[in-house]
Amino acid sequence: MENINLSREIIKNYNLSKKHLFKKVAGNAKFYYQLQYDNNLNNDLIEISKLYNTNTSFKIFGSHTNIYITENGYNGLFIDINPQKSKIIFNKEKEEFIVSANTLTSKLVNNTMNLGYDFASLTGIPGMVGSGVVGNASWSSKKDYGKYVKKVILFDFKECKEIEIIPNEYFFSIRNSFIKKENFKETRYFVKEIILKSEYIGKEKVKEKYLEQINKRRESLKIGFSEGCAGSIWCNLDLRNKIGKGLKEIITNNPEFNINFNGARYSNNGSRFFITDNTTTDQDVAKLFNFTIEKFKELYNIEPIKEVLILDYDGEIDLHTFIKRYL
Ligand SMILES: Cc1cc2nc3c(=O)[nH]c(=O)nc-3n(C[C@H](O)[C@H](O)[C@H](O)COP(=O)(O)OP(=O)(O)OC[C@H]3O[C@@H](n4cnc5c(N)ncnc54)[C@H](O)[C@@H]3O)c2cc1C
Repeated sequence: MENINLSREIIKNYNLSKKHLFKKVAGNAKFYYQLQYDNNLNNDLIEISKLYNTNTSFKIFGSHTNIYITENGYNGLFIDINPQKSKIIFNKEKEEFIVSANTLTSKLVNNTMNLGYDFASLTGIPGMVGSGVVGNASWSSKKDYGKYVKKVILFDFKECKEIEIIPNEYFFSIRNSFIKKENFKETRYFVKEIILKSEYIGKEKVKEKYLEQINKRRESLKIGFSEGCAGSIWCNLDLRNKIGKGLKEIITNNPEFNINFNGARYSNNGSRFFITDNTTTDQDVAKLFNFTIEKFKELYNIEPIKEVLILDYDGEIDLHTFIKRYL
């Protein structure tokens, strides 16, 4: 870490407990940094790339609405993207939007609505546009992020340079993307900017679609944020594709899921998502996840897919590693 020269201070032993909604206790990040969209951004990215392929790993986060951090914290550099100075530029000729990755999805939806372009399927998705693209976010089976993406401008930490990718048909999949897969072991790509395109249908029509979606989501989003739940530990769209039902319906119809491992449970409200209490440990969560997997196998003969990123001391880990380590 001594060899890198970032434009602002790197904080040591930073407690990560406030970095997620649905997990009350988390360990420390060995190093913490706020990445800003200012004149130093390019220099900072070049400096961070020096950590690629070294013993200090790093991970980049947006609004933290889709991450789970363990009690052991993270023995690397936790990079937070600051949402300030985000930009949406409209290229009138091409009818495309050039959007900085730190833009909030809510801002994208509102700004484009005013110009009459239809991004209404992204209504109510929390977090940043860059993260939405990485996770190919969407609501239920409606048009996902990938359907709007024309080009992604990435910083490649391995090659230490900016590159552009025009996604092909394999780039996006259900709540997943080429970037998310490539960044699993080591963070290779930073999403810097995205070129998005959508249909012009006029402000009134977009507003109608926006209101329809927000009215369906309003109550559950409100509960979600006040309770502090995970939007999706389990990939809802995958469940719908495999068994024709989403998590809410499945949990409501099967009282066996009303189980509580010292606070690790599914909410009684809203979309019935995953929540925890102040005393819930990773072991309790591992018990709930293990129980859920076994129940799904027993009831539907499938294994549910995890959606959130699990961050442990050595970086991102998969669901079975988490269960093995903490059960
Ligand atoms: C109440 C609630 C409702 C939700 N509803 C939905 C929904 O309708 N649809 C849906 O799809 N999701 C939903 N989510 C999940 C989550 O909000 C989305 O996945 C969102 O896109 C995450 O954005 P974020 O900025 O919080 O990302 P984070 O949680 O900070 O990060 C998510 C991932 O993106 C990566 N990442 C972030 N920025 C960059 C970057 N610039 N470059 C490279 N990698 C990056 C991170 O490393 C991580 O892998 C919901 C969550 C909650 C709590």
